[in-house]
Amino acid sequence: MLLDLNEDETMLRNGLQQFAEGSLRPNIKAFADEHKFPTALMKEFLALGFMGTAYDPNYGGGGLGTRGAAIVAEQLARIEPGFAAIYLCNSAPMTTIARYGSDEIKSKWLEPLCRGEMIASFGVTEPSGGSDVASVKMRAVEDGDSFVLSGSKVFSTNAGTALHGVTTFVAVTDPELGPRGLSTFVVPVGTPGFTVGKPGRKIGWRIADSVELFLDGCRIPKANMIGNRGDGLKQILTTLSIGRILVAATALGLARKAVDLAKSYGNGRKVGGAGIFNHQGLTFPLADALTNIHAAELMIRNASCLADADRPFRLETSMTKLFATEMAGQAADIALQVHGGYGAFEEYEVSSLPGEARVLRILEGTSEIQRLVIARELSA
Ligand SMILES: Cc1cc2nc3c(=O)[nH]c(=O)nc-3n(C[C@H](O)[C@H](O)[C@H](O)COP(=O)(O)OP(=O)(O)OC[C@H]3O[C@@H](n4cnc5c(N)ncnc54)[C@H](O)[C@@H]3O)c2cc1C
Repeated sequence: MLLDLNEDETMLRNGLQQFAEGSLRPNIKAFADEHKFPTALMKEFLALGFMGTAYDPNYGGGGLGTRGAAIVAEQLARIEPGFAAIYLCNSAPMTTIARYGSDEIKSKWLEPLCRGEMIASFGVTEPSGGSDVASVKMRAVEDGDSFVLSGSKVFSTNAGTALHGVTTFVAVTDPELGPRGLSTFVVPVGTPGFTVGKPGRKIGWRIADSVELFLDGCRIPKANMIGNRGDGLKQILTTLSIGRILVAATALGLARKAVDLAKSYGNGRKVGGAGIFNHQGLTFPLADALTNIHAAELMIRNASCLADADRPFRLETSMTKLFATEMAGQAADIALQVHGGYGAFEEYEVSSLPGEARVLRILEGTSEIQRLVIARELSA
């Protein structure tokens, strides 16, 4: 398989590199060090239209599918993984709306999201646990022309920021049907009863805020249900599968950044008169990192092509997410080791990479959950 980008993808990557080098690289470290959401930089990014990359041009998108979205996540993560996090968590609700929403919902929400007029968040994980997506407890009760939603979600990324406009929530509409009784709803910011908690400081995704969300008797029109009643689980599993490709692409960008930093420090550092890259103890793990980066790139490209062709892709996606996020952790670790003691100091960018890589193994399905999906292949 050729990895070459097509003409549109090359233009996309070049445009992203312009933003990444011109605006993101010179300005983002101060925000990451302070664990602060970069509002002005994000506004600049939104105005460039990259949030719509994957989606239907009829709704203002770029039409480049998951392959395009993976390029965006990778290029942003090469500079700052947290910026890619904001992008990919905005993409999850957009994916649910784009794939399953009515024309009315798409015009009302997908279009302004593609135009970058606001950012979105998704509410799946609850305080009682996120790995078992089917065990959601948030309730949505039908009442005349409305649904009334009550319950809470945790770790909802993007939801606490000034640019946040809307969340997609998975809630129980029909408890007697178990996992078939879940449905998804669009809830705009400002709906009475919708409140947001405070972001905490995290070891990774430092500039992205991840907050608790509360719905207390929150009344929304029936038209805000995405797709069919009872399709919530199917919708979120597909959304998470696409999200896993974007997490893998974030891991790929992060691993490339780790190797770049290791290269530029390692080539200049002499100890006892000899360059540290004369020691195979450092270069062999970096050779492994380069090999794994290549493998992850192929896996991401393959999983994205399957997703865009509407072919089965959950198994490949789980393998891709598992492999790419674990390899990013190894790349971050050896890059820090190359820096010796300096790698322990926050002035050195490499110091943040192990934490940034670590969270990737947890969200959008932990490494254990990916292994569970893959291990199903073993049953007769
Ligand atoms: C930075 C960050 C951002 C996030 N953003 C969002 C967001 O925007 N929206 C959202 O809805 N969620 C978000 N999440 C939540 C994330 O998806 C969950 O944390 C994740 O799915 C795990 O759920 P949990 O934290 O409840 O862990 P639990 O489900 O309680 O799991 C705890 C541990 O048990 C293991 N485990 C659980 N079940 C099994 C099993 N069957 N077999 C083997 N091991 C198992 C898990 O792998 C994990 O190690 C975010 C999380 C983080 C860290």
